[in-house]
Amino acid sequence: MKNISVNLQEIIKSGVNIILPPRCPLSGDIVDAQGMISPEGWGGLEFITDPLCNHCGIPLDYDVGEVGKCMSCLDNPPEFNSARAAFRYNDISRNLILGFKHGDKTHIVRSFAPWLAQAGKGMLANADYLLPVPLHHLRLVSRRYNQAALIAESLSKHVGIVHLPMAIKRVRSTPSQGHLSTKDRLENVSKAFDVPIKYRGRLKGKSIILIDDVYTTGATAHECTKILRKYGAAQVHILTLARVIHD
Ligand SMILES: [Zn+2]
Repeated sequence: MKNISVNLQEIIKSGVNIILPPRCPLSGDIVDAQGMISPEGWGGLEFITDPLCNHCGIPLDYDVGEVGKCMSCLDNPPEFNSARAAFRYNDISRNLILGFKHGDKTHIVRSFAPWLAQAGKGMLANADYLLPVPLHHLRLVSRRYNQAALIAESLSKHVGIVHLPMAIKRVRSTPSQGHLSTKDRLENVSKAFDVPIKYRGRLKGKSIILIDDVYTTGATAHECTKILRKYGAAQVHILTLARVIHD
């Protein structure tokens, strides 16, 4: 019976593909399967590669040598242990993420896991849990899904690290951060997060990776790190698909 239902699903899927062939979400080219990126689409993504700051993960024009850190991290080290992103936030990656976030193109998530596994290979080697940056429940109702949790779930299956989607929650609904400065963003997300009682003991001494779609100023990462440390997390790392990089 199981085989029949699986075959039926395959037949339906191939039927759908004949009517609506799967297309690359970036280039619009026809591809073999839903969620695949065509070679044309790949070309527009600017993957972040070495040399980069060991701490915040920003790409640099020079080798950091033994110091290992950018000037900003030397002056004012971020709370988290490290941050990495797969690619730069540009017009192409913005369209990719917006389609995923608001356009119901959730099947794209399949492409994300290998990229994140590559960008975060150092931090993933010793991680205990993956935690998505949460949405407030009111925003979750209007958007229907938390894009960070979909990314974390997909990565969890890919690398075999436990995903705890409810271990950090947003206790305060914060206005959209669209055009806020770094300082305003920090104020905006201040005390916006908490760890539910049932997870507090579980985080103690653990190495945690926070997952989000975009790293902008680091304000959200900073605030989440503070609350995870409060409940005893030994290490907090940040892994995002894209990162805003100012020239
Ligand atoms: Zn840095």
